[in-house]
Amino acid sequence: MKSPSWQTPLIDWALGQKQPTRRYVLLVLATLQLYAVTIGILLHSVHLGLLDRHVAHWLILCGAITFLTVLALVRSGWSLRLKDPILAFPHALASNAICVLAFMQLGDHRSNVLIIICQTIVAAMFRLKPARVLLLGALTVGMLAVATIALTWHDPIHYPVTKSWAILAVGGSTLLMLSLVGKWISDIGVKLGRQTRELTEAVRTVEQMATTDMLTGLLNRRVITDLAEAELKLMERTGAPMCVALIDLDHFKDINDRFGHHAGDTALRGFAQSTTPQLRQVDKLARWGGEEFLLMLPQLNQHEALTALERLRQTVEALVFKDHALMQLTFSVGIAQAQPGESLEHLVDRADQAVYEAKRQGRNRCVLAASPSASAEPMAETLA
Ligand code: GH3
Ligand code: MG
Ligand code: MG
Repeated sequence: MKSPSWQTPLIDWALGQKQPTRRYVLLVLATLQLYAVTIGILLHSVHLGLLDRHVAHWLILCGAITFLTVLALVRSGWSLRLKDPILAFPHALASNAICVLAFMQLGDHRSNVLIIICQTIVAAMFRLKPARVLLLGALTVGMLAVATIALTWHDPIHYPVTKSWAILAVGGSTLLMLSLVGKWISDIGVKLGRQTRELTEAVRTVEQMATTDMLTGLLNRRVITDLAEAELKLMERTGAPMCVALIDLDHFKDINDRFGHHAGDTALRGFAQSTTPQLRQVDKLARWGGEEFLLMLPQLNQHEALTALERLRQTVEALVFKDHALMQLTFSVGIAQAQPGESLEHLVDRADQAVYEAKRQGRNRCVLAASPSASAEPMAETLA
């Protein structure tokens, strides 16, 4: 369902237009649930007469300032420069500090605050690095210890030492235990994230290996076969012309023998790198095998394809190899225009025969394949 026209600019204004700011703002907004629960507990405590109304209002104001500050820093993009762009650690620490202030105001009911602190730690364990979860727990227990010392020091009648330290011992150890579990869960999250990244990378590599020729970076034979089959079907439906060109590098064995196999590999890469930028987006060039390449040229008739291949031939002929100045690369190519109902195998076969003819005529040239009905006739057109 489409949102009303006024809603989109409003949402953009609230969340920002760019990723990842938008995602980070949403993560900060998710903490509102915890604030809502805390405010509910504070107001309920006021209602039961356990907490002074003004104190509750001050605590809520502190919470609101903390939340809005974090939101502003994240929404403005300022926090993007930090390793913790949603400010999860300072946010959780500030929230726990406010909880410690509430702890100091709730008298005999102060241990209820520990539940809210537990919730903050649980929420933080999914956002913080393992060590940070532990640090958050330790600092919070430290703040509770300072608060307990202050309470027992200033008001030992209402806050007797034994009872106060018992509350701190139970609460503090629970929080530390929870932080340890949090660290453990955060550890698992980090490991899982790393494994997912490695797996994604591995799948990408396998995909690349399955579709690409490792030496030249061009498509491999399997992929070009699928693409050409699909293009032939499309051609049947639309009636648009389509050609394939089988390119065979000339005297490549001699290049290997004279300059070495490594230079031969450089020549294969040089061929791919020099021809690819000249192709249209719809053209697909693949390594057919060894020193042979198949170029698929959709929406071109054989004469247009001949012109395109002639341009490529001249480019390759003019290639200069930095480390092998004397190495000269040329190719012979056979071009065949697909006929209605013709199979890919037959089409490539006709292109192959044209390559043979190009070699016979002296190499370094483009030759059009004979039409299927006239396969015994001489080649239609040759360019060299
Ligand atoms: P022609 O002009 O008749 O095509 O002669 P040619 O020497 O190119 O053809 P031939 O089929 O006799 O030799 C092809 C050579 O290509 C032989 C093979 O060693 C070489 N070759 C095939 N794949 C590679 C490769 O990946 N790297 C290198 N360096 N050479 C390769
Ligand atoms: Mg060959
Ligand atoms: Mg060859």
